[in-house]
Amino acid sequence: MAPAQCGGTGVTERLRFAPSPTGKLHLGNARTALVNWLVARGCGGSLNLRVEDTDENRNVEGAEQRIFEDLRWLGIDWDEGPDVGGGRGPYRQSDRRLRHQEVVAELLASGAGYYCFEDVGDVRVARTAASETGQPFEWPGRAIDPQDARARVAAGEPAVVRFRAPSDPVRFLDGLRGETGVAAGQIGDFVIARADRSPTYQLAVVADDHDMAVTHVIRGQDHLSNTPGQVALYSALGWEVPRFTHLPLVLGEDRSRLSKRHGATSVAAMRERGVLGEALANYLVLLGWAPPDDDEVLDASAMIGAFDLAGLSPTNVVFDQDKLEWLSQQHMQRLSPDALCTRAAPFFEEAGTPLGAGPDELAWWQEALQLFAPAAHRLEELPAHAAPLFWEPADSPRPAIDGDLAGAMGRFAAAAAAGELDTEDGFRNAARAIGKATGLRGRGLFHPLRELITGQDMGAELARLIPLIQAGSRLAVRPAVLSVEARLAVALAAR
Ligand code: GLU
Repeated sequence: MAPAQCGGTGVTERLRFAPSPTGKLHLGNARTALVNWLVARGCGGSLNLRVEDTDENRNVEGAEQRIFEDLRWLGIDWDEGPDVGGGRGPYRQSDRRLRHQEVVAELLASGAGYYCFEDVGDVRVARTAASETGQPFEWPGRAIDPQDARARVAAGEPAVVRFRAPSDPVRFLDGLRGETGVAAGQIGDFVIARADRSPTYQLAVVADDHDMAVTHVIRGQDHLSNTPGQVALYSALGWEVPRFTHLPLVLGEDRSRLSKRHGATSVAAMRERGVLGEALANYLVLLGWAPPDDDEVLDASAMIGAFDLAGLSPTNVVFDQDKLEWLSQQHMQRLSPDALCTRAAPFFEEAGTPLGAGPDELAWWQEALQLFAPAAHRLEELPAHAAPLFWEPADSPRPAIDGDLAGAMGRFAAAAAAGELDTEDGFRNAARAIGKATGLRGRGLFHPLRELITGQDMGAELARLIPLIQAGSRLAVRPAVLSVEARLAVALAAR
């Protein structure tokens, strides 16, 4: 059965994500994009991307491309948008200015719009003062004869266009809240066109959603207060109202709205820290929603198959970095060795240990990453886990060893030089024999060995790490990998 969010009426669901190119894509907006994508894909509908760039003062150079890149990194694709064309574009709001002006003209002609010559700020102050003292408020401009107003505008007098808000209550259905809206008189006569004739967001969003035949508007709860005015505009224009759903907010741990104050909250920052895109998408879908069978680790097709808008909790959700990192770890373990290498490569490049180009080097790196990945939560952590491969004892002198321990280490060095530690089994056999011969075993044997060859007192399993070091020492990886026998020689020379 199709989820409740799909109409089942023969109408194709058309969804849209409408970012403003004013900065980075933040987690809250990324979640809005993801939910729109899941509903579109789950219903077999379309997702359109529309860049809301009408507020020219706030547009940031390059932000649009970065948002597209972040969306793709999350695994979100779209069917229509400024970079793919498609159906009912153009998909950059600024390209639609003439159409917006046409809609404003339509509202002026029907009387649902009117010119207002008063300063916008002054009107706001007067309205606030009236509401504080309980006085009725007369919107300046409402009473001016439309013909006179047109003549004043034609003569060059600056004016904004306001929407004559209805005096009745405005009600609409919200996907999570049910019927909601505002009481009579709550919507003010908001501005639909500025004095320079540019449309405001309220006008442009309604015109665009209508013209693009959008059936579902899913956006953040921060837009809930805009919706009654938009619903009133739809009615004034005689247009069908889309289905609205307002997603609860994403909060920081202190329960205030997630913002820069809470640290890294942009999609780009998560990518730079080496969180996997599919893990972040998986995390975002779990904010306020639980999959029907308890498995929380979901790939894209599992999310599409299981997600149901109606199952989303209407309460705000708190961002949990630990849970995100856990999911990132889970997704990292699901990557093929090859894919893990490809994803990790930029982080190793950055750390100064680039993943070599030759096939032998790449195969070695794949094995290395399989060893270290289970302990890492993010790709960025991998180079540190792999650092023992490149450790050089000469860089940090170890205390001298002697007696039985020196004997045991000498035997390990000899076994290493003879190629006996090249495999897991070889290492285990050698360790057993050396234990027998020296009377040292368990921690007493392996702890010093680990320290002498890696400089660390814990880490990956020696039976896998040591053959890896040996194999690396024979390859042209950079920096060079020192063999186990060479590492031990330094320790033994210090006696
Ligand atoms: N451009 C708006 C924003 O970035 C979205 C408006 C909408 O979805 O209706 O918040």
